[in-house]
Amino acid sequence: MKLETLLIHAGAEVDSATGAVAPPIHLSTTFEHAPDNREPLHDHIYIRESNPTQTRLEAALAASEGGETALFFASGLGASAAVLQSLPAGSHVLLPNDVYHGVREIGRDFVPRWGGSVATVEMGDLAAVRAALTPETRLIWAETPSNPLLEVLDLTALAEIAHGHGAMLVVDNTFATPILQRPLELGADIVLHSATKYMGGHSDVLGGALVLKERGSTYDALLHIRSVLGAAGSPFNAWLVLRGLRSMACRVERHAANALAVAEALTGHPKLETVHYPGLPEHPGHTIARRQMRAFGGMLSLSVRGGREQAVAVASRVRIFTNATSLGGVESLIEHRASSEGPTSTTPQNLLRVSVGLEHVDDLIADLEQALAG
Ligand SMILES: *Cc1c(COP(=O)(O)O)cnc(C)c1O
Repeated sequence: MKLETLLIHAGAEVDSATGAVAPPIHLSTTFEHAPDNREPLHDHIYIRESNPTQTRLEAALAASEGGETALFFASGLGASAAVLQSLPAGSHVLLPNDVYHGVREIGRDFVPRWGGSVATVEMGDLAAVRAALTPETRLIWAETPSNPLLEVLDLTALAEIAHGHGAMLVVDNTFATPILQRPLELGADIVLHSATKYMGGHSDVLGGALVLKERGSTYDALLHIRSVLGAAGSPFNAWLVLRGLRSMACRVERHAANALAVAEALTGHPKLETVHYPGLPEHPGHTIARRQMRAFGGMLSLSVRGGREQAVAVASRVRIFTNATSLGGVESLIEHRASSEGPTSTTPQNLLRVSVGLEHVDDLIADLEQALAG
């Protein structure tokens, strides 16, 4: 079955109890025990461990990435933390230079407390990746295209390096979505999503997802972490993400088409140093992106000539875009990324991150042009 069809139907089977065509939502926190209290009478016991709405979503998440199983979390960072917490004590982790700011913060502020260590590496340079491996390296963490610089990493090559070293490859696929990039098929072991972004798709739900190639001991460890450390999602959020997944294929295609048109229209603009978008032939990751992506996604960033002040001024002048953080919703957003990341940000001060929405692309281009004109 094709992905577009799977996404409409996975986890959205007609409800056998009522015949409801749209997936029902079950908010119950607790489920009836068996009289002898040995085996569960139904499939669920307590909401933090599992619940019916989340089970539907997890079936759809697994189908979306072609994995054997999936886990829904309270947030993308909750899912990220669980992956890092699942490693044996003493594990070493490689992070790319450009990685979601919150993941860098977990690596800096928490992994050492959990008994692990983290190194950041220019992950586009495969020799540098090999050189950064230590006997304790258990995990290579890739994010491609990356937030916020839109760097592209070669997932096939990274999977080979990781597996040759007995390590796992985890891929944050939030920007690309399973519509445009299939990390498990390229060799990854776990795919991570901030479901808050394109999966939810409407800027109204927080959630995170892990999709695993295999249902093995890593799955057991992650499930235990979610149950006991408590970053479980809510049924209502699971229901909203399931609803979002069903229209994701169409949305993402339009997001990507709009972003490509915006990137092409702004290329060479006198107020810009660079338009960072993997769909542009001059982007350093273009060749790899063409090989491993179906299209180049709805995210881009702009290096504004001048510095912080000039960039902030551009973001303040938009009329159709909203100057706000986050991404992947139907509405277009723009933000001065370093301000959102705060004092420890490594993002260039002249960078604006742009989430291209589903408005008509002519209106979006006109809005950015008037904002740049000042
Ligand atoms: C937003 C984001 C996250 C974090 O997800 P939350 O749902 O906000 O916790 C992780 N990775 C990427 C690439 C993101 O954009």
